[in-house]
Amino acid sequence: MTASGGTRGGIDLGGTKIQAVVVDASNQVLGQARRRTPTEGGPAGVGAEIAATLRESAEAAKVATESLAGIGIGSPGDANESTGVVSGARNLPGWEGSFPLGESLSSELGAPVRVGNDVQVAVDGEFHLGAGREFESVIGVWWGTGVGGGLVLEGRPWLGRGAAGEFGHIVVRRGGPRCSAGHEGCVEAYAGRASMERWARKHLDKGEKTKLFEIMAEHERDRLTSGIWERALKHGDKLAEKLLKRAEKALGVGIASAINLLDPDAVILGGGMGARFAERSLPEIERHMSPYLFAPDDPPEIRAASLGDLGGAIGAALLV
Ligand SMILES: [Zn+2]
Repeated sequence: MTASGGTRGGIDLGGTKIQAVVVDASNQVLGQARRRTPTEGGPAGVGAEIAATLRESAEAAKVATESLAGIGIGSPGDANESTGVVSGARNLPGWEGSFPLGESLSSELGAPVRVGNDVQVAVDGEFHLGAGREFESVIGVWWGTGVGGGLVLEGRPWLGRGAAGEFGHIVVRRGGPRCSAGHEGCVEAYAGRASMERWARKHLDKGEKTKLFEIMAEHERDRLTSGIWERALKHGDKLAEKLLKRAEKALGVGIASAINLLDPDAVILGGGMGARFAERSLPEIERHMSPYLFAPDDPPEIRAASLGDLGGAIGAALLV
């Protein structure tokens, strides 16, 4: 474990929320706070809100931010661990370019700050403290708005040259539909929540019946959250069922390929959709995975992430 002990801060920066925690030397949460991610104000505006969220969690923990041994932050986009610069965080407002997030937060909060990839730090958290604790090598599959991933091999995060673990971009069908990055037929094009929503709209426009968008309107949301998918399934919505099955199939086939390459001890399923549907979807994912495994008689463990909502922020605190 990289954590050297002491009281530390951890931040999970997402497209919709900022979650901050303050943890002690044994990674117990002493205080936490959550705020909405600003939708305007650019990187500096987001940075100010992150600082405020961390300060609030430090107040709850009754410590000054200046006394923290360090603060880790898991960020979307391209997060450079050595410079603390975050670039191309497209689901954050005005963050297409680069912003020195580490430096800016460090001077604001008076403690050293380390920046890491959001999914990788969440997977590290599960590896050290959650569903992956008893294993040496794990693949994390983070099923949410997009489909992300992270690797821990023989106890150490595997970052490659900076872009490793992009599970969502494993191709499961040549010439298939495009993902957010424009590839044809990768897992994310079928299983990412945003892709699933695009599919649902397409089917709706063609006249197929679905309650998905009515439920969305009832709950005054502007997108199909995992909770809305769950409600539609409970209503027996056929389109929701069809699209979720397709997502499970893509995840299963993609996971088989990842296992064939790395032969890990375990695969951990996390993310907003993963958390919501683990119970239903894990058996389905395993069923679709099995026929594609090179060694089907000895598959790795497939488990749901266990740290819950604070997992990303606790994992980020492990960066320091
Ligand atoms: Zn892709």
